[in-house]
Amino acid sequence: MGFPLAETGRRPGLESVLKPVLEPVLEPVLEPVLEPVLDLLYPRRCPLCERLLCADEAYVCRDCEAVLPLVRHPMCLCCGKPLRNEYAEFCADCGRVRHRYDEGRAIFIYEKNMRRSVDRMKFHNHREYIPFYGASLARWGRPYLRRWQPDCIIPVPMHPRKRAQRGYDQAALLSRELSVRTGIELREDLLLRTRYTRASRKLGRGSRRDNLRGAFSAGDCAMPPRLLLVDDIYTTGLTMDTASAVLRRAGAQEIYFLTLCTGVGQE
Ligand SMILES: [Zn+2]
Ligand SMILES: [Zn+2]
Repeated sequence: MGFPLAETGRRPGLESVLKPVLEPVLEPVLEPVLEPVLDLLYPRRCPLCERLLCADEAYVCRDCEAVLPLVRHPMCLCCGKPLRNEYAEFCADCGRVRHRYDEGRAIFIYEKNMRRSVDRMKFHNHREYIPFYGASLARWGRPYLRRWQPDCIIPVPMHPRKRAQRGYDQAALLSRELSVRTGIELREDLLLRTRYTRASRKLGRGSRRDNLRGAFSAGDCAMPPRLLLVDDIYTTGLTMDTASAVLRRAGAQEIYFLTLCTGVGQE
């Protein structure tokens, strides 16, 4: 007996099974009934090692939970990148660049297993990882959220064309999850992606900046004073800076960010 999808660990999102047959109104009613059925058809797997999860493992297997690559002290006081030197306050990047955001933190170090897992979530439709990663943002981000007291959560937006290609926007899904778990309002109307940009992973810093020019614009509504930007990965900070500059021009006073992952900083 074989469920080919179960073999690869892929489990379709509920909505792809229900749509277009049923209206979204029915989803909350049917979800409790259908979730256990989906669990049987598509067993839940650990987002990190892809092993089948036991019934008592909520999001991640016990082995991976014991060695989660959490960002710990010492970390950069500005961007939150982990530092090797415990006497350093800032990473080389934050020592050199004046960021347009006030402060930010990441939950996990972007190491090998994490990179693979986040890639599966982003590019291979593993949306079932979202609750784990959203819960991680809420759990380990809580001390920072308490200090920053943001008025709302803003996902770093994806261009509608890219969103249509991929079918979903992981930063928006993570933000929604964080909003539900913290009670902080989600606002997807304050920051818009207005220009399509190429994937900037392989570009140098200068070309990355050019690539992002005009990428964002502020929504046509009153800007709350304290904002929290949410994204999956923090690398050079250019995306956060570009988005923050736009939000500041539109009236934001304090801008913070939480990301799922960050690279290691150099002192
Ligand atoms: Zn695992
Ligand atoms: Zn830094």
